[in-house]
Amino acid sequence: MNMINRTQLLGMSCKQMEEFLVDMGQPRYRGRQIYKWIYQKDVNSFHDMTDIPRSLRQQLDENASIAIPRVLKQRVSKDGTRKFLMELEDRKRIETVVIPQSGNRDTSYSLCISTQVGCPVGCAFCATGSSGYQRSLQSHEMAGQFLSSRRELKRRLKRNEDNIISNVVYMGMGEPFFNYDQVIDSVYLLIEYNGINLGQRHITISTSGEVKGIKRLAQEKLQVTLAVSLHAAYDQLRDRLVPLNRKYPLGELLEAVEYYISRTNRRVTFEYIMLDDVNLSRDDADKLIHITKPLLANINLIPYNEVETLPFKRPSSNKVWQFYHWLAEGGLNVTIREERGGDIEAACGQLCIKER
Ligand code: SF4
Repeated sequence: MNMINRTQLLGMSCKQMEEFLVDMGQPRYRGRQIYKWIYQKDVNSFHDMTDIPRSLRQQLDENASIAIPRVLKQRVSKDGTRKFLMELEDRKRIETVVIPQSGNRDTSYSLCISTQVGCPVGCAFCATGSSGYQRSLQSHEMAGQFLSSRRELKRRLKRNEDNIISNVVYMGMGEPFFNYDQVIDSVYLLIEYNGINLGQRHITISTSGEVKGIKRLAQEKLQVTLAVSLHAAYDQLRDRLVPLNRKYPLGELLEAVEYYISRTNRRVTFEYIMLDDVNLSRDDADKLIHITKPLLANINLIPYNEVETLPFKRPSSNKVWQFYHWLAEGGLNVTIREERGGDIEAACGQLCIKER
């Protein structure tokens, strides 16, 4: 039997896996055992599941598969950030990034997950957007990025802690809410008690402003953090930088964010990429204060990481701090994101599709 006809176990909830095993004539707890092998012990070969009877392992090997993305290449930044080039079952390629939380040897990592191969939004400053769009990812391909990255980190760093990845951000290639159902399914895989068991508050979903997704997320019983990539404080500029703004202009977007806050009582983060001579004037700061202050949000400023093929420039450190002070004096809760992985093109907006 070839791989195509085998049942893909990755992506099943623990309950679904129990049912799958019951359908094979096995006791229910076998499903839970296999689930733990996959999600807690990073094992994806049935032969290595030593507490499963040999005959069942054989049967599973013939009828099922656990297809986690294959790490083809990794680049390591001088700051410890790692970028993995991963290949999916259909040989499409994505990039996934792990970022150390501190400079300590025993630090944990934050994982930046891709949700699509390429991205259809096409933000003007983003390498992913300009490299085209191929398809959306399945939930198991997103959870698989977690498993592959964790396995790779443990192997390379000779560490064995299961919580070596402590945070997940859906901020890699793609617009998560264009792939809403699969993204939410993957969140449930990350938080499953019998599996990865990541805390909900350690997960952030970042959207470029897909209003329907924001409203749907408001109705989920999830405690994940919502981040919105704003990048401009008025429509004329945002239309140019984030083309999705033409469909969902700022007024509509901010209304959706307000609705989200009122339903969930959770603080939202606005991301603001800092582009030299584009969105950093005093007027930009005033407009940004005006539209975000009533929402009591966090503002995360991201100094731009230049992409060779795109015309945008990184602002000087003086301009970055000037803009920061204007916002802080205006009463916003503002931070500047520390530069990570810029030397290996792993920073925000630098990921792109790599062809074979
Ligand atoms: S910034 Fe995000 S939403 Fe915009 S093109 Fe890049 S990946 Fe897509």
